[in-house]
Order: sequence, then structure tokens, then C-alpha cells
Amino acid sequence: MFGRVLIANRGEIALRIIRACRELGVEPVCVYSEADRGAPWLRYAAESVCIGSGPATDSYLRIDRIISAAEITNADAIHPGYGFLAENSHFAEVCRDCRIEFIGPSPEAMAQLGDKIAGRRLAKQVGLPTFPGSAEAIDDPEEAIAIAREIGFPVIVKAAAGGGGRGMRIARNEESLRAGLESARQEATAAFGNGAVYVEKFLERARHLEIQVLGDKHGNAIHLYERDCTSQRRHQKLIEEAPAPNIDPAKRDQVAESAAALLRAARYSGAATVEFLMDARHDFHMLEVNTRVQVEHPVTELITGVDIVKEMIRVAAGEPLPFTQSDIAIRGHAIECRINAEDPDRNFMPQAGTIETCTPPGGPGIRVDSHARPGYRIPPNYDSMIGKLIAHGPDRTSAIARLRQALREFEIGPMRTTIPLHQRLLETASFVNADFDIHYVERILKGD
Ligand code: ADP
Repeated sequence: MFGRVLIANRGEIALRIIRACRELGVEPVCVYSEADRGAPWLRYAAESVCIGSGPATDSYLRIDRIISAAEITNADAIHPGYGFLAENSHFAEVCRDCRIEFIGPSPEAMAQLGDKIAGRRLAKQVGLPTFPGSAEAIDDPEEAIAIAREIGFPVIVKAAAGGGGRGMRIARNEESLRAGLESARQEATAAFGNGAVYVEKFLERARHLEIQVLGDKHGNAIHLYERDCTSQRRHQKLIEEAPAPNIDPAKRDQVAESAAALLRAARYSGAATVEFLMDARHDFHMLEVNTRVQVEHPVTELITGVDIVKEMIRVAAGEPLPFTQSDIAIRGHAIECRINAEDPDRNFMPQAGTIETCTPPGGPGIRVDSHARPGYRIPPNYDSMIGKLIAHGPDRTSAIARLRQALREFEIGPMRTTIPLHQRLLETASFVNADFDIHYVERILKGD
């Protein structure tokens, strides 16, 4: 096992990784920006190093400074968390060149699965259901139009290197497809330095489902079942749950097994998520693979009893997965609410400032993953998520009841948060009956 692990991240995920390290007897080392100086999670690190000013481009995205910090502090490995450098295969390569273990896949496996075109190609080979559309990158608008005619409008143009909802254009006719192809290409070149785009069928009403998978360096890979992340606003997930309500378990099992096969085919070690949209007929269509731990990993941990972050560290240290697929069973139901410092009444305006009140909830089945504390000043430089509230119960109805009470108990102030929005969503018939699609939150916000 490693002696020390450097955490190249901040906030609640830095704290989550610190906790996993301590359980494994590993010393956690943190890096921080000037905006995070004195932040609450840093006091639990064995050592912390300042790597630059507040903007992420001068700190959490600086590969040279993070590597230097790892060398100065004698860290054997780096956990990237999510966001920042977590899906940067160049960073994984630099770690390898510097003989520091990157806690995640090899740069090759990351590059292959992280590229949406290459990832889809491999996914198809192992039998995962992909969207109808172009198999390769498209340059010629006439070719895009021919494909769209074949699969039928609407279609969506997407960037091979896309992320965060950028580089996507919906096209409902030939004219908008021509324009969308060009503008998606420009946006992708500017945002990702890679202008490759492709076309796939656009689903009007869909649910977002994803399969959590884990692989080791000995060729083993298993799945930890699915999560449902249909509750989104502007492609940002708000509520996630596991298992997914109202789905066909036979279809789910088949897709989940193919997702594990995808990892084996890519010789993947570490945690990954294979994302899908599910149509009205309950058929799955693969969107992309995320080659890192995800924000919503706790719901899977609660229903399977597997500590995903600890397993990531163990497999990076060369240990084989300690279980096989038949050891993994679903116990109960878990639901997570992302608590963001945003004002839902003012177009989700981010709220900076100092937290004065912070009373986390408790009781049976309640988990809070958060770095928020009274006296903590939320810097304006980063994402507005200040914590996650997760409820686990024997079934979905009891998980919802626990979550409602926990939201009532959770007091954070004086800034506004997404807590009242979650309270409202948990009362809607769409959520309670799981009769929803990825646009339902926006419809509720508009008052439809
Ligand atoms: P990113 O990597 O930018 O997050 P994804 O491929 O995961 O891109 O897609 C993000 C979101 O865009 C999806 O969750 C869904 O809401 C929407 N989307 C993407 N592809 C399609 C599609 N073919 N049909 C309908 N919606 C889509």
C-alpha cells in the first residue's frame, strides 16, 4: 500500500478521499490555492502545500506545481477526484513519467474511453447499445445530412472531446444541421483543442441512467449496478438515486454486464461510469464513459456496501478486487441531493460569502458528505456545490421519507442554497412516481 497519497482536488471530494486514506492507514497530502487557504478539509491532511492563486488555471490545473508538491512531500500516488485534471490523460502520463501512481486508469485506457468516438466504437464491439448515428467523425455536411435522413430528425451534433454539455447542437432540419455542425466544431476546437464532431439520434424524452464499474490491474472488472440521474437542470445533475426505479431489470443486467466487459476490453483499472439515456421503451443508448469517480458515487456505496474510493486506491496500489460479481447485491434504496450555494429564485445565482449557520441532519440512513462548517468562507472561484445529502432506506418510499426529514433539519445560512428546491422536487408526482424525463425539473421551474 502507498505511504502517502496526494489529493489534487478540493472541497467535499478532498475530504472524502482523506477519509478513505485514513481508513487504509495512508497519509493524505493536500494541495490548495490561496482562495482555499485555511479551508476546513486541510486540517485533516498530514501535510498541505499551497500551489498558486485562486483561479484553477493557476493552481488546481497546474500539472507542474502538483507534481512538484508530490515530490516535495514524498507522495507515492495522486488521487485526482473529479473535475480539474481527473480526465486529463496528459496528466496521467506525466504522473507515470515521474513514477507517481495516478489513481485511475492508464493514460491509454483513459484516452480511448474518454474520446466519445473511440469509446463508442469499443462499446459497440462488446455489445453495448449505442445511439443510431455516425460511426466516425464527420467533416462533410452532406454526409451528416445523409445520416440524419436515414435515422430521422431530430439529431444532435456532439464533440468527440466534449464535456460539461459543451460542443452540442440539436438539429431539427437540414439547415440547422449544417449550421450546428459548423458551430459545434468551432466551439469544440476552442474549448477542447479538438474539433472532431459526430451525429447521433436526439431523444426528446429520456431518462439518464448510468452503470458504475470497477476494474483492477489483473484483468478483473465488475459492475455495481446503476444510478438514475434524471433530475437535472441544464445538464447538471441535482438528484441521483440507486437503484433506478421502474426499469426492466433484465435489460439493466445485460447492459451492466456489457459495461464491465467494456472495462476488460480497455484493460481499465479504477472506477468508471458508463452513461446512458433510456428511451420510452426502456431501451438504453450509451452516451459516454466517465473515467473517474463521480459526484454521485455515495448512492452506489450505500446500496452495495462497496467503498468505491478505497477500492480505487487499493487497485492503484496493485491489489486485486476483493470481490467477484456474484458478491455484489443491492440492499435497499439510496437518494442523493446536491446542496449548492445557489439561489433557485434568482436563476441559480452562485452565493459566495461566509457560512454562519450549518446544522447537518442525522438519524438512521443519513449521510452528509460536505466540507461546509460555520465560519467557512465559500470562495467565488469554484463550483458552487457545498455538500451532498444522501438518504438510504430499505426501499424507495422510506428513502424519500428520510430525505424529506433530513432536508427539514439541514440548516445553512445566511446564503441561499438548493435545499428548498429539493424539498419542492421531492413532493412532485413526477419524482415520487418516477414518471419523469431529463427535462421535468425545467418544466417544474417554469411552472408547467
Ligand atoms: P457531456 O460530456 O458534455 O456531459 P453527454 O454526452 O454526457 O455530454 O450529454 C450531456 C447531456 O446532453 C445528456 O445528459 C442529455 O441531457 C443531453 N444529450 C446528449 N446526447 C443526447 C441525445 N442523443 N439525445 C437527447 N439528449 C442528449
